[in-house]
Amino acid sequence: MASTSRMQAEAAHQNQVICGFRLQAEEFETSMPSDVVAIYPGSFDPLTNGHVDIIQRGSRLFDRIIVGVLLNLEKSPLFTVPERVAIARDVFKPWHNVEVDTFDGLLVDFAHKKHATVIVRGLRAVSDFEFELQMALMNRRLRPEVETVFMMPAEPYTYVSSRLVKEVVALGGSVHGLVPDVVEGRLREKKLARETLRA
Ligand code: ADP
Repeated sequence: MASTSRMQAEAAHQNQVICGFRLQAEEFETSMPSDVVAIYPGSFDPLTNGHVDIIQRGSRLFDRIIVGVLLNLEKSPLFTVPERVAIARDVFKPWHNVEVDTFDGLLVDFAHKKHATVIVRGLRAVSDFEFELQMALMNRRLRPEVETVFMMPAEPYTYVSSRLVKEVVALGGSVHGLVPDVVEGRLREKKLARETLRA
C-alpha cells in the first residue's frame, strides 16, 4: 500500500515536472518572435561590395534585414542621405527580404522600433574589433534583448572601406569591382562635377 502511494506520488511529481517543463516550453515558444529581423547600420558613404557581401550573407540568415543609413555623422559626406538610400534601394531591389531605411538617435531604439532583435556588423580585421566590441557591449547594456552578430566578408573585400574608395577615386584611381556598378557610375559623376566646379 505504502509502495503504491509512493509510486503515485512519484508519478504525480513526474507529471508536475513534465507539465511544468511543457508550460515553460510553450511560454518560450510564444515569446519567440516569428520573424527574425536584423539591422545592418552604417553610413554607407558610399555603399561598397564589402557591405553588399555582408548584407547578402545576412539575408540568408535572417527573415528580414534592414539597412539602416545613419542620418547625422560626417560633416561633409560625399553622398547625401537620400542619394545613399536611393543607391542602396537600387542595389538591393532583387532581394525581397532586404529593406533600406534611415535612422538617428540610438541604434538600439531604432532596432526596437523595427522589431529587430539582431544588429549585424561587419568585421574586416582585428583593427575593427576593439571599437566593435565596445559598441556591442554598450548596445547590450542599453537593450539586452538585442544581440550583435559579427560577420566576415569574402576575402577580396577585407581591405575595402568607404573612406579608401573615396580617396582612390579622388586621386583618379579605379575602384572597379570594389563597389556596385551603380556606385562606380555615381562616383564618376561626383568627381566630374567637382572638377567642373573647380575649373
Ligand atoms: P561605419 O561608419 O559605422 O563604419 P560603414 O558604412 O563604413 O559605417 O560600415 C557599416 C558596417 O559595415 C560596419 O560594421 C563596418 O565594419 C562594415 N564594413 C564596412 N566595410 C566593410 C567591408 N569591406 N567588409 C565587411 N564589412 C564592412
